[in-house]
Amino acid sequence: MISKIRLIGRPLSAAVLAQPQLPTYSNCYSTLVSPSATTASSSAAAIEAERSIRDGPRNDWSRDEIKSIYDSPLLDLLFHGAQVHRHAQNFREVQQCTLLSIKTGGCSEDCSYCPQSSRYDTGLKAQKLMNKDAVLEAATKAKEAGSMRFCMGAAWRDTIGRKTNFNQILEYVKEIRNMGMEVCCTLGMLEKQQALELKRAGLTAYNHNLDTSREYYPNIITTRTYDERLETLKYVREAGINVCSGGIIGLGEAEEDRVGLLHTLATLPTHPESVPINALLAVKGTPLQDQKPVEIWEMIRMIATARIIMPKAMVRLSAGRVRFSIPEQALCFLAGANSIFTGEKLLTTPNNDYDADQYMFKLLGLIPKAPDSSELALKDVEAEDIEEVISSSG
Ligand code: SF4
Repeated sequence: MISKIRLIGRPLSAAVLAQPQLPTYSNCYSTLVSPSATTASSSAAAIEAERSIRDGPRNDWSRDEIKSIYDSPLLDLLFHGAQVHRHAQNFREVQQCTLLSIKTGGCSEDCSYCPQSSRYDTGLKAQKLMNKDAVLEAATKAKEAGSMRFCMGAAWRDTIGRKTNFNQILEYVKEIRNMGMEVCCTLGMLEKQQALELKRAGLTAYNHNLDTSREYYPNIITTRTYDERLETLKYVREAGINVCSGGIIGLGEAEEDRVGLLHTLATLPTHPESVPINALLAVKGTPLQDQKPVEIWEMIRMIATARIIMPKAMVRLSAGRVRFSIPEQALCFLAGANSIFTGEKLLTTPNNDYDADQYMFKLLGLIPKAPDSSELALKDVEAEDIEEVISSSG
């Protein structure tokens, strides 16, 4: 027990790892398949957290391994998520991102959770792309409020055939980067060339969620495939832009689908830089309007599992945070979440009040994460290389 307590917040020493009472993966795995079979000292969460701390990130996870972690007794999972978090991250730092809908509604896609789809009658009024002054004003406000990353979302299937709008967005990216903020976009599916152009403009990250497991995905969206989503992530990654990709729980999926989503993310060639974990905010008029709200325990299970299997990723407590109290959010931060969206709205749904977030940071002793200065500096170094790739890819 004493050796266990000593493990908190520091790497495992060889001596501790060598202790016979600590189980190894191989001798415990067969007992870990179901939660009922786990014990306090041999849960998959404990074993994999220790391995993660010792060996660092891996992306050869099997689905069964992730399921075993996910199925670990909840408090054990929370505890070990916290251990990995304290080892791999600065546990007091929380990234604050502001998400602005720069082009709202009227989307041709049929994502069942989304009020911006033109297929559902949600009362949302479609709006054209916001002009530069309005976007920069919002970015300035976000910066003044302590946000380190500004994310722009446009309700489009993709950006193909939207040359004028796309060029405008490239301008916005450049301007906001020059304000010293990290910049993220979520504009639907991208082509390779567009990813390169976004990189050249200085884009830090591109968000494209997988939403759910490959198996459950056709129940949620029929207008584009899982593989198309993965292809966009590939172009983003290859352009040297950070990948931001996660999913939504509460869509009516089974726990197996949550494991499937995490498995796909954790076995990408490199783990996403950011992994948003969203809890569905059911919107009247969408096909998922009657889904029952996600419980905090479900969020904690997702967050802690994500933290253990992708230790270096920013795990973002995203949509649905508005429904959780400060003590509930504190458990999410403890489990391994280290990023939130701030600002009045998350695209079109309500978000937490700014003052309430400030109070929560103070109360919990959290500090806002600063923009990544090494990544900001890279922009200039890489600019010439990207120019070359763009001209050669036509
Ligand atoms: S989630 Fe995006 S792609 Fe899907 S309907 Fe909404 S805006 Fe369109």
